[in-house]
Amino acid sequence: MSRVLVVEDEAHIAQGLRFNLEAEGYSAEVVGDGESATDRLLKKKEIFDAVVLDIMLPGKDGFAVVAELRAAHNYVPVLMLTARGRPQDVLRGFASGADDYLPKPFDLSILLARLQGLLRRSAWLRAPHHSQPDASRSEPRIPEEFETYSFEGKVIDFAKLELRAHDTVIQLTLMESELLRHLISNDGRVVSRKQILEEVWGLHEDTDTRAIDNFVVRLRRYIEDDPAEPRHLLTVRGVGYRFIAHPAKK
Ligand code: CA
Repeated sequence: MSRVLVVEDEAHIAQGLRFNLEAEGYSAEVVGDGESATDRLLKKKEIFDAVVLDIMLPGKDGFAVVAELRAAHNYVPVLMLTARGRPQDVLRGFASGADDYLPKPFDLSILLARLQGLLRRSAWLRAPHHSQPDASRSEPRIPEEFETYSFEGKVIDFAKLELRAHDTVIQLTLMESELLRHLISNDGRVVSRKQILEEVWGLHEDTDTRAIDNFVVRLRRYIEDDPAEPRHLLTVRGVGYRFIAHPAKK
């Protein structure tokens, strides 16, 4: 039975979620603020299979909670609840380390489907041989065409969500991994900001696309020897980005 932690201060939403998760066969527990969430996940080291995390919480907000988890190397799958019409929340959520998001008010069946997607993905990651997931059930926006990818001394392990460069291992979030996979599978071609929003993250139109730039800054810190002089992840002014695995030497 999968164990889900619901972090939500609005009691009627929290109780509704718990009731419905339990009806679907999950074990669900509710906390009403961010402090209690990090207390249980980090201090008490309780094991949950997924966290449904609201952004607007009293005290420590959802962004702070997920950032704290990732800083402590806790990679429990996090589904973040964002306010509708605030795409900047989504991007900030991904940058903080969330794995997926759902705008409020949400349809319960969509929440359950997203949660199942996250759990399936993490179960697959924990499986000993990383066997291919059942194609008919896999998430369409996580293409599984390659598991590892190497370029210039760096190895990205999409199955383990790890990037190994020299002696360091960086743990990637699902969203970072998906963005890298998308850029790499378009090696040499320009990927527009719109394409990143729509095809990789499932966002639409009115999003402030400049917010992606912050995300790219982070990826550059991972993959570039000198992030200020990127050679692999290039900005194409006014359009988007281009990944080049083997740039010509300067
Ligand atoms: Ca709230």
